[in-house]
Parts: sequence; C-alpha cells; structure tokens
Amino acid sequence: MAQVTFSTQQRDALFGQSPWDAVLVVSDRFVLADWPEVAQLIQHAASVDQRIGNEATLLLAPGLAGGRLVLSPTGDLDSDYEDVRRFYEAAETGIKMAYRAGARNVLLLVDGPDADARYLHGADVAALGCGQGLYLNPDVEDATQVRVGLVDGQDVDRLTALEQGRVAARDLCGGDPEQMAPPAFADYCLALFEEDPLDVSIIDDAEQLVRDYPLLSAVARSSFAVARHSARVVRVEYCPEGEIHQTWLIAGKGVTYDTGGADLKVGGSMAGMSRDKGGAAATAGFMKTVAMLRPRGIRIIAEMGLVRNSIGSDAFVPDEIITGHAGARVRIGNTDAEGRLVLADLLSHLREDAEKAVNPRVFSLATLTGHVGRAYGPYTGVVENSVARRGQLGRVMQQLGERWAEPVELSTLRREDFAQVAPRSESEDLLSSNNGASVNISRGHQFPLAFLLQASGLDQYHLASDKPIPYLHVDIASSAVEASNPLYGKPTARPLTTLLAMMSEL
Ligand SMILES: [Zn+2]
Repeated sequence: MAQVTFSTQQRDALFGQSPWDAVLVVSDRFVLADWPEVAQLIQHAASVDQRIGNEATLLLAPGLAGGRLVLSPTGDLDSDYEDVRRFYEAAETGIKMAYRAGARNVLLLVDGPDADARYLHGADVAALGCGQGLYLNPDVEDATQVRVGLVDGQDVDRLTALEQGRVAARDLCGGDPEQMAPPAFADYCLALFEEDPLDVSIIDDAEQLVRDYPLLSAVARSSFAVARHSARVVRVEYCPEGEIHQTWLIAGKGVTYDTGGADLKVGGSMAGMSRDKGGAAATAGFMKTVAMLRPRGIRIIAEMGLVRNSIGSDAFVPDEIITGHAGARVRIGNTDAEGRLVLADLLSHLREDAEKAVNPRVFSLATLTGHVGRAYGPYTGVVENSVARRGQLGRVMQQLGERWAEPVELSTLRREDFAQVAPRSESEDLLSSNNGASVNISRGHQFPLAFLLQASGLDQYHLASDKPIPYLHVDIASSAVEASNPLYGKPTARPLTTLLAMMSEL
C-alpha cells in the first residue's frame, strides 16, 4: 500500500533545490501571511484561473521544491456549523492530486483561521488526512512510500504513532472475510506488536473459549468446525513503569464476518459485513499507537473478541438461554444481535481487572447497530453509564472528537432501555434483543448498553456502590468506514485519534 511517513522540515525546504518534489497548501483563503513568496505566486495564478481557491489545482512553480504547487481549499470556514473535517478532506484531495502528478515527497503547509478554537488542530488533522487519502486496502499490492514533510511545527512522533495505529486499524477493519478471519486477525496482531512493550495473549482453544466466554462462543459455534474461521480472543496489556493514575479497559467487537447467523441477513444486506470488526480493529490500532508513545501513568488492558457469525447446522438460534461469564442467563432474541454477546463476556473479564485497578474506565468499541446510522447518519454514537455521565466522560469525548475530525453524538441511557431487555419469563435474567433488526426499533442503539451493563456485571458498579466505574459504549457502526458504506467505504480508524486525545485530557 502507499504508506505515508511524516518528518519535520525547516521552512527553507520549500524553496529551490531540495529532495522534496511538491508543495501542498491546505487553506481557506490562501492568505499565507508567513509565506509571502508562496502567497504572491498564488495571487498571480489566481488572476488567470478562477478555479484557484475554489477547487484543488496544481500550478507550475519553478521556485518551489519540485516545481509543483498543489492548492487544496478547505472552503469557507466561517459558518457556525463547520468543523475541522474541512482540513482533513482538503488534505485527502490535495495529497491524491500530488500523488497522481508523480510526487512522492510532499511538503505540507497548512493555513487557516488562527483564533478559531474549532480549527486548533487543523495542521495535525490535515497531516492525518494525507494518510487517509493515500491509504489502500492491504490486498492492493503497492509498496510505494510517500513522505510528508511538516513545516508547521507539529509533533511528528505523535502523528507517526497515530498514523501507524490507524494503518493497522484500517488493515484489520478492511480485510476480506478470509484474509482477516479470526486466526488471521490474531496473527496480524502478533506481528504488529512483536517489538512493542505489550503483553499479548491469544486464546484459541475451543474448550477454554466455551468455558470462559460462553456468549461469545455461542456466536462462534457454527464456525468452530472450520479451523480457519475458528474464534479467538486477543488480550493486550500496556503497563508503563512508575506510578499508575488511571486504568483503561477496552473491549473491541471483532465479528470478522456477520451472516446474521440463523437470523440470516437476506435480500443483499449481508454484503459489507466483513467490516463488522471495526471495533476490534480500532482497539488494536490504538494499542499500537500507545505502544509507540509509551505514555506514563496509564495502564491499558484491551480484549478483542474475534468471531465469525456463521450459519450452519450447529448455529445458535433464538430462544436459546445461555449463561454468560458474569452469570446472567441470557435469552437470545435474534442471532444477528451478536455483537453485544461477544462484548458482554469480554466486558465481564475486564470487570474482574477493573475491580483491582486504579481509577478504572471502561470502553466498548463496536460496529454494533444499524440504528445508530438511522439516528445519526455517518456519526459515532456514544452512550454513557451513570458514572461516566456524572464524570462527563461522554462530553469530553464529544468535545475532543469535534476537534480531531471524528465527531460523535452523545446519547442518554434511559429506564426504557432496561425495560427493553428485562426478562419475560422465569427462565432468563435478560433478553439479548428484540426479535427483529435493531434498525427497526426505537432506541435501537441506546438499549444495548442496558444489556451490556447487566450481562457483564458492570451494573453492580453504579453511583451508590463502593466502587463506581465509568463506562462509555462507543457505537461506530456507521462511522467505521467512509460514507457509511460497508462495501466500498475506506475504513476510518475511528475513534482512535479521539481516544489518544482523551488520554491526556482525563
Ligand atoms: Zn449482526
């Protein structure tokens, strides 16, 4: 794949002979007060070409590195409803134009409204947009390297760690059903973390999985017969030297293919379901970024549940009652609501870690429901438990997501959501879901948190308990790929960048 690498460059790299072969400017008005030579060039060109400033253009610029100047406008940033994604998108467009023009060493210059807090991270976001723009799925053979030189004083180590994590997240999310089946996904993680200061363990023994992750194993049941589709749990731990101030516990949904199971997805709605592993993919990518940056004071434990929701003679079916790791008897409502079953057991294991941990914070990352897209379009939906709500954790995620071009919508968990999963008979403690698709029921993306809390045992750690534990459930079903298009949309690696920003804020 065409992989982007970042480096810091001095101002004079822009001019004359240099190893750089193009200059890309991302800006709203191209005023460039700090770069009068470049501004003058643009003004001259604008007098003969009205496209300049309105659409991406390439100018012949003999005085500049490589003689190529690519201008990619963000559009008007003044509207009250604009956000920093303008920089991300303009950089994507611009870097693609530079690449198609033959450039492989591109200097990135970013200029926008300095005083507007919305665009505080515009230069960093544009750099990440370059990575997104040139990323290709792992099955596309292309070993081209593209260097992006940063002249706006960005933190190159941080951006490099972010991009490496984002590449891994995109690879894992985008891989096809065979290429990234559970064992292959786990192998990718082993190779990814090989040199990193992380503890990595993989559970691949079917008997152990059935015993310790019974709900997850129910989803995986009809895939166990096919070795290359067989389930895996990947556990990754980061523990820095020195005092620990907070502990993050992250559960990632990795359904490597979702046929729907016995409640089969019909009428063409199955296509694209190899992307039902975006939560586990973002979790792995985030751990890569963390391993590279080695932050102090924070310990992180992640569990990824990798299963294929196959259909076959051994498939689990609605009406089955399965006792999960935390002890709750769960009546299956619909086998296509499988993600919450996978997460519940992971969260139950993480609960045991959280009990002993310093200042624990729990997250689940998952492409969980069609409903979140129905409710919010292409945005991430975040649902808080009571403790996270009191601590305004969701609000922090929302504010940071907005600044890092990964906007999220905040939802509220309500009493109706608990009623939705309440037992209907003496035989069960919980209902996994209604019998139809989540997209067709009101509060379809909120009520799964009521299930997750009770099925994992995290509901015991409520506000009045001895150890209240905050928990954020992050539904990326319609934001894990571009344009909410699971078939052809490029994976976005969301919410990796926001999680890193949160780490230094909490
Ligand atoms: Zn499903």
